[in-house]
Amino acid sequence: MASPFDWVEVFSAQNAIEANLLKGLLALDSIKVLLKGESLGGALGEIPFEQTEVKICVPQIKQRQAEKILLEYQSKQQASNDWQCTNCNEYNGCGFEVCWFCSISK
Ligand SMILES: [Zn+2]
Repeated sequence: MASPFDWVEVFSAQNAIEANLLKGLLALDSIKVLLKGESLGGALGEIPFEQTEVKICVPQIKQRQAEKILLEYQSKQQASNDWQCTNCNEYNGCGFEVCWFCSISK
């Protein structure tokens, strides 16, 4: 049997930036987050500009709560107008004026 404190995967973030954003979002609701797949070695505060998928894991007892928050996040993402970078074809949130990947402005 799984323990209620086992980590369960609830979301796959596109990259470390999104993963850390979601980690912060879940932390607001006192949900502990474990990120899997994030590239290690970066100094604290330094965001690795790598496109590695990062798994978001939360304790099983927080799974439902976390999924609700992530669903809200996703629906907001879909409602907003993401734009695609003409230089590198990466998708960016509408709140970003420059591409997160190559820093070209929209
Ligand atoms: Zn770009």
